[in-house]
Amino acid sequence: MYYNDSSLSYRLSTMTDTPQYDILILGAGPAGLSTALHLARDFPHLATRVLVLDKARHPRPKLCAGGLVIDAETILARLGLNTDEIPHADASAAHFDFAGKGLAVRNPKRHTLRVIRRDEFDAWLAGKAREQRVEIREQVTVKDVRPDFEGVTVITDAGEFRAQIVVGADGSNGVTRRCVLPNEPVQTARVLEVITPSLPPPNPSDLGEASRRRQGRWGQAFFDFFVVPAGIEGYTWDFPTQVKGQPMRCWGVYDANMTDGSKPPLKETLAEEMARHGLDLNDYELKGHPIRWFEPWTRISIPRVLLVGDAAGADPLFGEGISMALGYGAVASAEIGEAFQRGEFSFGRYRARVARSGLGQTLWARWLIAQIVYQFKWRWFQILLWRMLKPIVLMVAWVFVLNWSHRLPSKK
Ligand SMILES: Cc1cc2nc3c(=O)[nH]c(=O)nc-3n(C[C@H](O)[C@H](O)[C@H](O)COP(=O)(O)OP(=O)(O)OC[C@H]3O[C@@H](n4cnc5c(N)ncnc54)[C@H](O)[C@@H]3O)c2cc1C
Repeated sequence: MYYNDSSLSYRLSTMTDTPQYDILILGAGPAGLSTALHLARDFPHLATRVLVLDKARHPRPKLCAGGLVIDAETILARLGLNTDEIPHADASAAHFDFAGKGLAVRNPKRHTLRVIRRDEFDAWLAGKAREQRVEIREQVTVKDVRPDFEGVTVITDAGEFRAQIVVGADGSNGVTRRCVLPNEPVQTARVLEVITPSLPPPNPSDLGEASRRRQGRWGQAFFDFFVVPAGIEGYTWDFPTQVKGQPMRCWGVYDANMTDGSKPPLKETLAEEMARHGLDLNDYELKGHPIRWFEPWTRISIPRVLLVGDAAGADPLFGEGISMALGYGAVASAEIGEAFQRGEFSFGRYRARVARSGLGQTLWARWLIAQIVYQFKWRWFQILLWRMLKPIVLMVAWVFVLNWSHRLPSKK
């Protein structure tokens, strides 16, 4: 039995002590909050029928370099949100190199990459959702998600909740996917990250080449693919950030771990890159976390449950997931709004809807590009790509990697 667009009929028909909602969003990261914000904008009558649960309390730590590409800012702008409101550091150029040489991308009219801290960004986004009357309950850990014919029961450490539908927005290690799609394959990238001061410590006698090189990187972002021939399917990065207003640099290494299953050591590679710039990795705190990436044929919904953000799959090429998470929110909101209008919650066409959207198009393209770029590990191929085929690479990036957010569903 399915229900029509009346929460009352649903509530009356399930008269128990279990709190009843129409929509439970599990996870208050960018994917969950974007889903809530898009619902509030496009289907305001649903906003007050949503409950967002998160195991943490904002502002909460989240390991992430915090790089926002233009599409993230476009999606936020379409929601009426502006990241000028939160602390950030801007990079004027982004360099895509092989061993220190390659192509540079600059946006003459604005910053090329904006970098936020995720504790601040996510807390700000949660505040915006609350302003739209979305209820967020924090410090509630989801343990199990049990869909049935008439709804979904969510078991948490704070008791049971019941809803007509559930949105799994609980990230790469989330419990929702494990509960509802236990047999689907899981592909994860390995990522390590370190935060350092942005300039060498004051030392007048330190006029070495490495320090000069590091000073020259001020205000710019660097992605270096020198690691690919060594079997790491990704890059090292180094870009500006800030912590409590202090300028810092964020360093890291990304391995999509996509084509051959080998796992070369990441820490040593990052240490080598940082040493070229006069930094000793051992002086800083190294942290790691997986990123679940998108594969075109993986299921991302079952009846009454759909997945968004890392739970559904981030970009395999760069491990970029914030703009994707925000984009999933737009697509999921359109799917949910229509499902409530029809009173039918199979979500059988959700994956096709994602694929047709700008989000799905860029995820498909990035998956395909990653298969090529990371499959062919020869040094000469990587040099050709990043140093010699600049116009082609820039054109592919412009058409297939960026500018997809204009092709997202919107009622406005
Ligand atoms: C080291 C690193 C660097 C990165 N750098 C970048 C970058 O520069 N740019 C970029 O675009 N992307 C980057 N990413 C990827 C990006 O962080 C993710 O793609 C993004 O956070 C996905 O958002 P999400 O909302 O899907 O999941 P998350 O941000 O992981 O949010 C999930 C939420 O669910 C909650 N949750 C989890 N489990 C439960 C549970 N059982 N019960 C209740 N709540 C739960 C969590 O507390 C969290 O708030 C990076 C990732 C890593 C690991």
